[in-house]
Amino acid sequence: MKILKKTDVILSISLILISVLGFFIVELMKKDGKTVVVKQNNSVVYEGKISEDREIPLKHNTVKIKDGKVFMKCADCKNQICVKSGKISKSGETVVCLPNRVIIEIE
Ligand SMILES: [Zn+2]
Repeated sequence: MKILKKTDVILSISLILISVLGFFIVELMKKDGKTVVVKQNNSVVYEGKISEDREIPLKHNTVKIKDGKVFMKCADCKNQICVKSGKISKSGETVVCLPNRVIIEIE
């Protein structure tokens, strides 16, 4: 009985360790895997890491990457929907400026 119990404890601890480790690996991969892609007229004009702060000036828009977030800093479009969209930071999120045909994507 004692041996069985020990095995159970070891098994439980191993399972917890594996799940915790898995969680951290997924989190790390999420952080490293994030890429900002800026498209204009269906062609990629910028591609880079979300972790690197920078400003990307385009013809009608200015895209800004700061503190792991991306946003449309300014645009000359009438509706300003893209500027009002705010900051994005998660994979799959987008900011779209329809009038200027600019798309910011996080991959
Ligand atoms: Zn816009």
